[in-house]
Amino acid sequence: MSQLLCSLHHQALELSRQYLVCEKELLEILVKIESNKVYLQQGYASLTEYSQKALGLSRDVSWNLVTIVHKSKAIPELRHAVQMGVLPLSKARQIAPHLTKENSEKFIALAQAMPREKLQEALAKECPKIPSIEERARVINATQAQLSLCLPKEVMDKIRRAQDRVSESQKKWVGLAETLEQVVEFYLQHKDPREKAKRHEVRKSKAAVSVKQSRRTVRESDAVARNPELNLRPFNKPITKIQTKARVAIPAGIKHEVIIKNVHQCTYQDPRTQLRCERERFLHFHHKVPVAMGGTNALENLTLLCSAHHRLEHYQSSG
Ligand SMILES: [Zn+2]
Ligand SMILES: [Zn+2]
Repeated sequence: MSQLLCSLHHQALELSRQYLVCEKELLEILVKIESNKVYLQQGYASLTEYSQKALGLSRDVSWNLVTIVHKSKAIPELRHAVQMGVLPLSKARQIAPHLTKENSEKFIALAQAMPREKLQEALAKECPKIPSIEERARVINATQAQLSLCLPKEVMDKIRRAQDRVSESQKKWVGLAETLEQVVEFYLQHKDPREKAKRHEVRKSKAAVSVKQSRRTVRESDAVARNPELNLRPFNKPITKIQTKARVAIPAGIKHEVIIKNVHQCTYQDPRTQLRCERERFLHFHHKVPVAMGGTNALENLTLLCSAHHRLEHYQSSG
């Protein structure tokens, strides 16, 4: 029996040794894949997407490797320490966000010498601006989520001031959650392209009603009857300007319509899974037929792509 247990132990030791070697080799391959942008050629927008979808790595493992790959461009010592076997990958990932050219030697030495928990404390001490608590948003039931994060003291003071103003306007004490809800709502009303696009729609339909009500000249009515598309465009923007072949800025009205049509989300569809990209930030307007090939700023020629899929789309269309 004891012989069997011993054998299990030796098998585990051997496999974990191979596992660590594989991990290091994978890191080296990913460095080459990143520098040659092999993931674009394989149809993936980023190294992270490639490592999760093509290689099947878990989100955590992929984040560890990709963070080290990216950081090692500026600080090659990080990768070398992993390759030499003096720094485990998990610790390399832990110090990577804090590394600069100036502190890399010191932090790599600290990471080698300390266990993970002590290292986290040391990092928090050395880099007081970087919070030691990770930002985390966790859904706890169908209607609620829990948010934990570190804030600079001045930001917290501002939130408290906002809390006072919200409480005053509601004539009752209002908690932090409701204060944040009001603040976020206010910000989105003013800054979110989706809200701007909705306002544009309302303005447009009001304008359409008022134009209908005010007697239009026979010439104008005829023009709209012949070309209903004219009604889709802002009245102050002549259609000839939109359809010119020269590179002109996309009119705000058309941008709003593209945003509404695509619900302010990247429209890239993964050809393997048919799933649509869920990104709603860093969106770009993309001409399906490029301007250089006669593509216009017409609604049907425009779509929304996140920055990564925009780059992928142009990489693929450039052959
Ligand atoms: Zn484009
Ligand atoms: Zn996307």
